[in-house]
This record gives sequence, C-alpha cells and structure tokens, in this order.
Amino acid sequence: MSAEGEHCLEPHVCRFTPALSIKNPQSCSLPRDSANCVLRSSRSCEPAKVVISWEVAKQPVVTGTDRNPSFKTEDEPPGATLKPLVFRVDKTTPEVVQSVLLERGWDKFDEQERNVEDWNLYWRTSSFRMIEHINVKPWQRLNHHPGTTTLTRKDRLARHLQRMRRMYGAALYEFVPETFIMPSDYTKFIAEYFKEKQTRGAKHGYWICKPAELSRGRGIMIFSDIKDLIFSDAYIVQKYICNPLLVGRYKCDLRLYVCVTGFKPLTIYVYQEGLVRFATEKFDLHDLKNYYAHLTNSSINKSGVSYEKIKEVVGRGCKWTLSRFFSYLRNGDVDDLLLWQKINHMVILTVLAVAPSVPFAANCFELFGFDILIDDNLKPWLLEVNHSPALSLDCSTDVSVKRKLIHDIIELICLNGLRSEGKESRKAASGNPDPLFSRGAKRGRGGPHTHLPYGSLLRFTGRTHSRTGPATEKAVSTCPTCPRTIRLRETANGQDVLLSTREAPKIRASLRVRRTPGPTLIPYVSLIQSHPCKTKSPPSVPDTSPEPDPHAGNFVLIFPFNEATSGASRNGLNVRRIIQELQKLVSKQHPQAPGSRAKRR
Ligand code: ADP
Repeated sequence: MSAEGEHCLEPHVCRFTPALSIKNPQSCSLPRDSANCVLRSSRSCEPAKVVISWEVAKQPVVTGTDRNPSFKTEDEPPGATLKPLVFRVDKTTPEVVQSVLLERGWDKFDEQERNVEDWNLYWRTSSFRMIEHINVKPWQRLNHHPGTTTLTRKDRLARHLQRMRRMYGAALYEFVPETFIMPSDYTKFIAEYFKEKQTRGAKHGYWICKPAELSRGRGIMIFSDIKDLIFSDAYIVQKYICNPLLVGRYKCDLRLYVCVTGFKPLTIYVYQEGLVRFATEKFDLHDLKNYYAHLTNSSINKSGVSYEKIKEVVGRGCKWTLSRFFSYLRNGDVDDLLLWQKINHMVILTVLAVAPSVPFAANCFELFGFDILIDDNLKPWLLEVNHSPALSLDCSTDVSVKRKLIHDIIELICLNGLRSEGKESRKAASGNPDPLFSRGAKRGRGGPHTHLPYGSLLRFTGRTHSRTGPATEKAVSTCPTCPRTIRLRETANGQDVLLSTREAPKIRASLRVRRTPGPTLIPYVSLIQSHPCKTKSPPSVPDTSPEPDPHAGNFVLIFPFNEATSGASRNGLNVRRIIQELQKLVSKQHPQAPGSRAKRR
C-alpha cells in the first residue's frame, strides 16, 4: 500500500525570502494563481478581479530586489501588491512539491514570522488528524482527505472490492485478481488452492503474498507450491497474473495518478500522463525468486545490476512515461483508447467502493497512485492503490512527469477554490455577477442554470488529439482558457519522440487490431462505469456545490461523467444509480463482453 512517499525526507532550501505576509487571513481570502481568479484585496472584503493571467502568475514579474511575485487587482492602486500564496511543509514534504510551489511564486510558511493560520496549502506525506481537518480555514487546503487508507491498505481495499462483487456482480469487478485476506481467509485460500491444483493437473498455478500495510515491494513473495507460503499477521494472498503484457521480454505496470478533489460530492480526476515501471530482468516463471524479473517497483529495480543496461525495447533504466507506452501500443496496432476507457472504469469502480464510507471533509484533496498491470490480452488488473505516491525524482522520466503533475495539481485545487470563492463573493457582493458563472457560460456549458461541463468533456474526449492537426484546434477552441493543457500534451508527445525506441513493438499478433490511419496523441479521457453501494443518509443541507471543471492541466474529470451521475453523487451517493449509468456508458463504448479482446472498429 500506502505511503510510498514516506521516505521523502529531503530537507528543503527556500530560494525566496518571504517579504509579504497575510496579516489577517480571515479578512483576506485566498488569492488564486489561475486565470481570471477572484480574490479579495486586503483593504476590503469586496471581490476583485485579478488582472494578471495565470501565465503571469506562474512566472511572476520580479521587481527590484524583491523576488516575490506581485498579484495586482483591478481595484488596487497602481503599484499596490497583493500577497503571494503560502505553503506549509514538514520533513516529509517532497522536494519537488516545494520547488514547484516556489517556482509558481508561492511563499514557504515560516512559523516564526507568520500567524499560525497564515498559510494556504499544507502538503505532507502522512495523513492529517481529524482535528486538523475540523480546524481548516476557508483559505486553506490539505493534501489528504480523512479516511482514505480504506482504499490504500491492501486488505481493506480487498474487503471493499469483495463486497462490491457480491452486491453488483463479479463481472463488474473482474479487474481485481482473486484475493484472500490472511489470516481470516486462510481456509478459503486452502480450498481454492487445492481445487485449482486438481483442475490444472501438472500445470502450476501462481500466487503472490503481500504485506497489507507495506509498500515498495517490501515483504512480497511469489509462490506456486503452498509449502512456500509464509506469512505473519496482516497479509493478502492474491492470484499472480502470470501472463503480463511484456515489453521486450520485460514485465511492467502502470502508475496512474488519480486526484479525488471531494468525496461528497464525489469528484474524480485522472492524470493523462504517468509512469510505466519495468522489471529489469527478463520475465521467467521458472525463477519466482528473482524479484528483478517479477516485481516492477522502481525502488527495487534501481538497485539491480541490469538497471543501467540497455534492455531490449525498454532501453536504459526502468521507467517510461505513460504517453510513450501508449504510443508503443498504438504502433503495435492496439486499441489504446479502449484500454484507457477500461482503466478509467476501473478507477471509478474502485473509488466508488469506498466513497460511502469516507467521512465528509472540506478543503482537502487526495492524490492516489493506482498500480495497474496489463495482461497479454490487454486486460487491466488493479494491483493496489497508493497513498502519497512516491514523488522522488530518480530519473529524467520522473522529472518530466512529476514536476508537471504537481503544477497541474496546484492548478486543479486553485480551480476548485475558485468555485467556493465565487460563491462567497456572490454572497458578499450581491448583485455582482458570479465570475465563475460567467466563466462557465463562456465555455458553453449547459445554460444559465446549469454549469455542467460534460458537453466540453465529451468534445474533449477522444483519441483524435494530435499535435498539429485539427483535433488540437478543436481542443483549443473547446477549452479557450487552458492553453497549458495543450502545451502539456505537446510536451508529452515531444518527450515521446525523444524517448521512443526505434525498435518496432513486439506485441503478440492476437493483440493487433485494425486502425484508422492518422495521427493520434494521448487517447485519454473517458467516461466510465460506476457502481452501487449503500447510500449514506443524505446531509440535511442540500448539496449545491457547482459542477467541477472538466480539466486542469493534464487532469481530466472522469467522475461525474454526466448529469445523472452528478445528481446521483449529491445529497448522498446513490451508487446503484451511478452503476446503471456506467453500465449504459460501457455498453455504448465497448459493446463486446467484458474481458474480450480490444478491437478497433
Ligand atoms: P507494493 O505496495 O509493495 O508496491 P504491489 O501490490 O504494488 O505492492 O506489488 C508490487 C509489485 O509486485 C507490483 O508492482 C507488480 O509488479 C507485482 N505484483 C503485485 N501483485 C501482482 C499480481 N497479482 N500479479 C502479478 N504481479 C503482481
């Protein structure tokens, strides 16, 4: 599981001298480093429109010797300065988070110099105590949501997914390898082991035993014979996927970043870039003890003797970007869009399994790392979900993916802040148009009373985004306020070119599918299928929070994915209704039976 980033203890060196501070945070709402953002000046509670653009905020103007960015508002006299945003850290805060925030013009919180509440974002590896959530102020954000270990501890996740299988059918949750929670499921496991042994005869079945609470491959063992099974308390035993999709002859898995910006109402974004992590020795079922061949954790493989070697197709090191991997698949004539849609479905179904049991908390978000293994039938399998996914920068691929990831998270949470800010501003200044509303209306959302982003999401969806073709123009016109989205896509593609191997992908002939010619970039964004769970008692106050933005940087909203699912996730989560919608969507997107091979029409 879990907090992969817990080893990130690098001390941070602050490059900027804090010069400006929020004297009275209560009277001054959070300035936002996003286009057209609303903030209040320190002089009044009236909302003021920021006249700097997002781009300017990102690369602040430096005047004189003061290296702090200046945020100016329309009602500020010329020369007046606004306060930079302030981030708070502890010893576990990843270095990349700090450096990105400084780069964006934020100040680092210094308790000697500032009021204790004078910060806007607290980012750390470990969870926050409930009291910290309760005391969070409107201008503050925490990078963890309470109760999410239910998703990131392997045994708890397995229990939730087993319950969902029982309630909604195994077919829907077939992306989870069969799992036994030890020691309670020991008898069940033994029964299954011998049943399988009988059916298979001389052919071996393979299992993997993993500590429920550890991460980075620690304590894992793979076995075929039950006499090799050793476990202590909290372990899970899982069916070992012994037909992984191999690149060259190397096993890999995907690290997908998912940001849940709220559980009530449920709001899930998936990141369109990510990592593919490779084992550094050739896959071989005859040697189950060779972890460099069977485990794809980079914490293990970076210390292997083959890490630096140039490996067949994979090249040097043990990581690719997700875009490079999808490009590799496309070159092998694989229906990457279908695969991406299945992955998105899996993410929604997984989060849906735990969402009803997660307590409500405002002003926080959670970045999860989903580990997904693709088998040689192109079926994605969920291996686990990580809390505080590792953000250490071990290689150039890490640098390119993780730095942008942090930039985009900041953009995402600023957009989220904007919404509530918009609401507050409207209340404070009655008669003033809600800037958020106008922004939504300009984007051509549902109409004057609905801000639904789904139209844009659908238009933005699809594999036809190309770097230079009409699809990009389409994306630009669909999303006039997000030049960065496009730029990141270009960057991702650029990197693709940079890193791509000359060697043709060796994907089994059976995976090849007919393709429409034409340039394709990242196929990402898709709408998924969801699941029913028991609805929690609805809150007494109706949930009127605005619809989430369809994307922020490379983050794309995958839930809610239409008005019905938006409605079903407010005032109590109607999981059954959501699952019905998801099933409708799935039958439209890929009518063939679950588990069937990827076919492009
Ligand atoms: P950890 O939290 O220790 O990283 P994971 O569940 O992610 O634990 O497993 C570590 C690695 O082991 C994965 O990255 C993958 O390569 C391999 N692995 C885990 N579960 C399976 C499985 N069921 N089938 C095949 N490989 C697996």
